[in-house]
Amino acid sequence: MISRFLVFGAFLFAGAITAWYVAGIQWLAAGALVGAVLWMAWDTFSMSRLLRWLAAEQQSDTPGADSGPKPPRAGAWGEIADRMNRIVRKLIRMRQRSENRLDDFLSAMQASPNGVVLLDAEGRIEWCNQTAAHHFGFDVQRDLLQYAANLIREPSFARYLAGGDFSQEVSVHGRDSTAARPVKLSLRLHAYGENRKLLLSRDVTAVQQADAMRRDFVANVSHEIRTPLTVLSGFVETLQTLTLDDRERHHYLALMAQQAARMQTLVSDLLTLSRLEGSPPPRHQEWQSVQALFDQCAAEARALQGLLTPTEEHTLGFSVESDCELAGEASELFSAMSNLVTNALRYTPSPGAVQVTWRQLDDGRGEFAVKDTGPGIAAEHIPRLTERFYRVDRSRSRESGGTGLGLAIVKHVAQRHGGELHIDSRPGAGSRFSIIFPSGRVRPVQLAETAG
Ligand code: ADP
Repeated sequence: MISRFLVFGAFLFAGAITAWYVAGIQWLAAGALVGAVLWMAWDTFSMSRLLRWLAAEQQSDTPGADSGPKPPRAGAWGEIADRMNRIVRKLIRMRQRSENRLDDFLSAMQASPNGVVLLDAEGRIEWCNQTAAHHFGFDVQRDLLQYAANLIREPSFARYLAGGDFSQEVSVHGRDSTAARPVKLSLRLHAYGENRKLLLSRDVTAVQQADAMRRDFVANVSHEIRTPLTVLSGFVETLQTLTLDDRERHHYLALMAQQAARMQTLVSDLLTLSRLEGSPPPRHQEWQSVQALFDQCAAEARALQGLLTPTEEHTLGFSVESDCELAGEASELFSAMSNLVTNALRYTPSPGAVQVTWRQLDDGRGEFAVKDTGPGIAAEHIPRLTERFYRVDRSRSRESGGTGLGLAIVKHVAQRHGGELHIDSRPGAGSRFSIIFPSGRVRPVQLAETAG
């Protein structure tokens, strides 16, 4: 303000001095008046520049961008313009910062594994991330401001949205859900701001499937254990209540031992499976001789053959076409191979033939195969054979001591060794089960090691 008076004074003084100098002392007051008028003209001009500049800034889409009319630079109006300019720039920076933060926030929501939809007070879509668009089949641009209830056409969701109680989640089908491949979404609304809502969606298909599998598994295990346990307790009761002679007692004890052995096998297979699932994959550095694994399988097969068909034996053949070594865990490899061999023996009625072979394929991969002349398996069962407790012939499996877990174990072992289990079978034409091991896990026998 002081500078304004000083400038005004300077104009008066300059006018008076000029008049005195040019026209004499009697024109001093008139000169001061002319100075005052000039000051007013200059002041009004500066003020109108300021107003023009403000009007242009107000209409501009990019205020603060140095284009259009310029503000006054000097005097009080210049100072006002300068301060206003600084305030405008500060506000622009603040707006830019909040826009950046909003962008960051939206990017974070975009990265969320859950679907996020922002709904306005009317329930219309204000924004949604790609996951939500995928879950509900929204078009991120086209469906903005559409009513969510019109696009998520599940009565349960419409009820949930209208009900106003968002303390629980609601479950709906995903856009791509079909009877064969159901997709389940869990939705939860959260109220915020002025009657706005945040809709979160989560794909719970895998969780629900895992849950169902866990329930099935527990039910299956309980069922498998209950049967021999019931038989066992029946015999215990018989032994406790009846007076039996030696021969009868031996008979019952033998049957009890059989049931106990069945439970033992089941528990041991379950433990094997859980070990396979819970431990890191076998290392590449440990090499096992295929011939040694074959010898072990052959010994076990011959013992089993004697038990299964004491009178008429199967023709059993073991042949290692190319003597190789296999990288992996010996006990796992043996367990997978022997499961396939014993299955072939158990399911092939005698007299039959079981051929076990090992060969190295042209591309360096190794193939372990078991071929039998058994009943074969219908195509619809083949994809399900490696499911736990899945059996085609329930009674044959139980009779021969099967647990329904053998092929699940084989598949796990194959996968842990980077291999694949192939099943080739037709009813009446026998079966061929093979495990193909990757070339990186197969090598010719190392002479130095075999010599040692
Ligand atoms: P199990 O203990 O019942 O043998 P597996 O998982 O080893 O369980 O096998 C699953 C089912 O696959 C068996 O119950 C049987 O019905 C069928 N199966 C397995 N191997 C053969 C085979 N070589 N020939 C015919 N059926 C087989």
